[in-house]
Amino acid sequence: MRIGVLALQGDFREHISVLKGFGADAVPLRRASELSEVNGLVIPGGESSVMDKLARTFELRDPLRTAIADGLPVYGTCAGLIMLSTNILDGIEGQESLGGIDIDVRRNAFGSQTDSFEVDLDVPAIGEAPLHAVFIRAPVVERIGDGVDALATLEDGRVVAVQQGNLLGTSFHPEMTEDHRFHSYFLDRVRASR
Ligand code: GLN
Repeated sequence: MRIGVLALQGDFREHISVLKGFGADAVPLRRASELSEVNGLVIPGGESSVMDKLARTFELRDPLRTAIADGLPVYGTCAGLIMLSTNILDGIEGQESLGGIDIDVRRNAFGSQTDSFEVDLDVPAIGEAPLHAVFIRAPVVERIGDGVDALATLEDGRVVAVQQGNLLGTSFHPEMTEDHRFHSYFLDRVRASR
């Protein structure tokens, strides 16, 4: 099973190493031609506005949109979740997402006073034990459309993990902790979609 990790910017190396730990053939993806060679794609954390610009520069944005619309399984963490949203709130001027998951996502939703934090989350979809989640200048999901499942919420009810079909997104960074059940869950989706 070959998984591409969008390697324009951000913490793609961490994702590659987690995916390899599950035995997947994880490769950095930078060219549109490489999209047809992967069974799934991970969009890492980083800075979504920069990722958007680089995706245009590398002529990857439209091919990525097409691949997502054609059903490629994709998992986005943090900036990756922003990229997968249909609508960005508090984006920089001209910033666009790739779309795919019918949600509104607010960038930097926790403000500068809470730059980062960690919390234990209940995520029934991946198992009973709580998941220790790391949030870094994280986005939050403010609207979810029909067909989108909220997989995890903070205590105040704000949604921080979503799934729509083969598309998965988390506000937090499982690639930075030792608990990789989200990657495993994603790989199950990729396997099931083949
Ligand atoms: N704040 C970043 C953005 O807007 C996301 C941060 C992250 O990926 N850790 O893209």
